[in-house]
Amino acid sequence: MKGCGHRRLDGVLRVLGTVALSIALAGCDGGPEGAPEGDSSGPEGDSGDASAWSYLGELPFTPEDGELLTLPVELTDAAEGFALFAEVDGCAQVALLEDDATTWVGALESGPSCTACEERFSVIAGSGLLVHSPAEPSSGPARLRLGKIDCHTLTRARPDAESPAGSVRLWARELPAVPLEVVVPLRFHHGPFSSRSSDDESAALIEAASALLAQAGVRPALDSSSADDALPESIAWFEGDPSALAPLVEHEEGVVDVVFAGCLEHVHPELQTRTTLDGLVPRVPAQAAVGAGIFLRGRACTSASLGPSFVSVESQARVLAHELGHYLGLYHSVTSDSDLMNPNPALIPDPTFSPAQAERMRLHAALLAEPTPDR
Ligand SMILES: [Zn+2]
Repeated sequence: MKGCGHRRLDGVLRVLGTVALSIALAGCDGGPEGAPEGDSSGPEGDSGDASAWSYLGELPFTPEDGELLTLPVELTDAAEGFALFAEVDGCAQVALLEDDATTWVGALESGPSCTACEERFSVIAGSGLLVHSPAEPSSGPARLRLGKIDCHTLTRARPDAESPAGSVRLWARELPAVPLEVVVPLRFHHGPFSSRSSDDESAALIEAASALLAQAGVRPALDSSSADDALPESIAWFEGDPSALAPLVEHEEGVVDVVFAGCLEHVHPELQTRTTLDGLVPRVPAQAAVGAGIFLRGRACTSASLGPSFVSVESQARVLAHELGHYLGLYHSVTSDSDLMNPNPALIPDPTFSPAQAERMRLHAALLAEPTPDR
């Protein structure tokens, strides 16, 4: 928990020239005293309202700079972060975000496989929501760099005569107050080899996952559950190709698709290795249009010695809670054996989320549930 319950951008957003924007964030003094967290009908009126977004403009990628655009971001001492909504022809990604003291995303670390970035952002494919909520306040000025990337390979797009650099349209807003509890609607899609295809089994899984997430203030709720016989028996995820999973999910804003596969495999495109996965979220945090969803394995993973695999409700609930953590912006924890973002959540006893993990999940869930800008 940070020292101030309310985060405000205070409506001070302006475009300087064509590629510069200034985001000034007010500190605790700017917010109403004693306003409860999660009071979305508070005096700011900044929640549940598309007008909470301010349009920053249409900013060009520049071929001279390798299809990048750089935005100076002015953060006040008390800055606690910002949210951006981006709309782009094709795909883009944050390539750099830093100030003099902190590098949240480093130029050499960005890309689909960033493992060391303090803050990571999903690929913007068509449109995307970026939430920068650093653990420590920034000491602005900061620099944010966006790069145009190839949607298929996720490598830097290179300018040529047939594909002009194009531009990105950006909106910014203050981060909403982090609610004390969020409801996350889940839409279950059961393939023929789903491990939980009956209503009773689906309800039992939701109940077990809810018990794990309650302490974090995240409440999963079953929005709908349907059979989808067209889902393939085995879903192979080729790393670096997020578009392959896109046809398997529905993408309704504010609803999280959960796909119950038969078998789920990770394929490394260069090593050509295949690894069975218990669960998968292709991008962290999830973004629409790039296969955003939670994928869980089912009964079709077989091996010569084991036969069809069985997954207990308890262990799959841990996987579901863990993948929902990814979906809402969490990465694997490497310092704690006892939290649910351990790389092997099904194996640890009495797993929990840390307070910082819980706050981050609730902030993401709140933003995903709120309206995107009027466009
Ligand atoms: Zn994981």
